Amino acid sequence: MVAYFSTRASVIDSKPRTLYASQMKPDALINMERIKRRQMIKMLGATSLGIASSSFFKLDASSQKNFNKEETYCDILVVGGGTSGVIAAIQSARLGQKTILMESGSQLGGTLTTGGVSFPGIFHAWGKQIISGIGWELVRECVALNGDVLPDFSVVPDNKTIRHWRHQIPLNSALYVLLAEEKCIDAGVNVRYYESPVSVAFTKNRWTVISSGKGTNTIINCSQIIDCTGNASVVAMAGHTVVRDTEVQPGSLIFTLDGYDFENLNLSEIPEKFHGLLRQNMFINSEKNNAPNNFPLTVPYNYVYVSGADSTNSETHTNANIQGRKELLKLLREIKTYPGCQNIRISGLKTETAIRETYRISGLYEVTRDDYINGVSFNDAISYSFYPIDLHRNGKTIHQEYLKEGVVAQIPLRSLIPQNSNNLIVAGRCLSSDRMANSALRVQASCMGMGQAAAVTVSIANRMGVSPKDVPVAEVKKELIKNGAIVPQ
Ligand SMILES: Cc1cc2nc3c(=O)[nH]c(=O)nc-3n(C[C@H](O)[C@H](O)[C@H](O)COP(=O)(O)OP(=O)(O)OC[C@H]3O[C@@H](n4cnc5c(N)ncnc54)[C@H](O)[C@@H]3O)c2cc1C
Repeated sequence: MVAYFSTRASVIDSKPRTLYASQMKPDALINMERIKRRQMIKMLGATSLGIASSSFFKLDASSQKNFNKEETYCDILVVGGGTSGVIAAIQSARLGQKTILMESGSQLGGTLTTGGVSFPGIFHAWGKQIISGIGWELVRECVALNGDVLPDFSVVPDNKTIRHWRHQIPLNSALYVLLAEEKCIDAGVNVRYYESPVSVAFTKNRWTVISSGKGTNTIINCSQIIDCTGNASVVAMAGHTVVRDTEVQPGSLIFTLDGYDFENLNLSEIPEKFHGLLRQNMFINSEKNNAPNNFPLTVPYNYVYVSGADSTNSETHTNANIQGRKELLKLLREIKTYPGCQNIRISGLKTETAIRETYRISGLYEVTRDDYINGVSFNDAISYSFYPIDLHRNGKTIHQEYLKEGVVAQIPLRSLIPQNSNNLIVAGRCLSSDRMANSALRVQASCMGMGQAAAVTVSIANRMGVSPKDVPVAEVKKELIKNGAIVPQ
């Protein structure tokens, strides 16, 4: 392709140079032009027939080998380049581990970017920062480069009733995609998009992972795997137990609308089910102005619930996408029939339905609702987590339980390690937890904290030549603190 255009360009370039050669006599010029034109027409004709002479077009024999098979190795393979995986990959590469980050999609960020949940929380609790490290570094840079300003999180309103979502940080998700990728590349991570493992086997203290991607099959030999797929896919593939409740929370397809006619919008004539939808785009700014210590919500968004949405495999996630898009079209067609809404149009749509709940691992410890809500302390705690219990039910109600004043939950390292596993750890929403605890633990700041801790653990495990369960927790905590994380003591 490149050869085709550059060859043509050089032929056309030569024409004006000949024509404007001022020393030539007019006749000579005309003859020269005829010759050049004849040559050119001949060549272009040959080109269009695909029979260009070899001096202009060379077939690259290797271009016919459009299916690639390769074998490579790394110290740490991170599967899933989403909320937790990005942080895990950056951390392990920064610790000098040869790191591959394998992502089945085309960009980094996962639910935070591709899914559109671009308002990570919660990094602060009760006026203090509780999660920091690489996740916070990325979030802060993203806020600054977008020209936003973070509020003073140390200000807690007198009545302590600040709503948790006011401490989430709306991000420009496109910018997050760029920054996450830049940080991975700068750290030395080998990012592989469009690729997924199809088999994993652990023998003689090494993993052999076969992956399949666009036009490629790869064998990757590595020492440790961090499963950040959100679904514990690698853990399941390795034959370890994963669990899921029969009922799962709905997913959400996220989009933005514009085109409201504010003057003619008559809420009394619009069914109540649409009020929330309109509110997200219209009234949020007036709320913002009266709210204490409220981060300016620069990314108003809407969503349709997708019941039973499941990202376990391509078939189930495809169904969730189709269902979400169908719902959105239905909604758009209906809402346009109401006063003030005739010109409503879609101004943004996320490329996939965001998934709240799928499989979790059966870990060395399962965090329970009681652990979470009471802020139970663990000797092997590697990160904090702060959010209400937040279980979306039937797409209609949300079961929420707030933590009491001063309480902050903790994440034990054991909840990231699958039972009976070697050289394998998880980070993100698939950690070992009961359903209620998981509905709070799954939030993004917590996932980022887990990602960094998982990477530190397997990096030390590699150095010591052991499995994650045998790594001294004190070493993990020390290394995490050295790398800017906040660790419960
Ligand atoms: C609708 C909705 C609203 C939410 N609201 C909030 C909120 O307000 N605040 C908050 O902080 N959190 C919120 N959450 C929760 C939070 O966004 C997610 O739980 C969290 O982002 C999950 O992070 P993760 O790293 O576990 O997975 P993800 O971010 O989903 O990343 C998983 C990545 O793995 C990739 N992957 C999956 N399988 C494979 C495979 N086999 N091979 C290669 N790659 C693979 C995926 O493509 C993806 O990039 C919400 C979630 C949803 C769905």
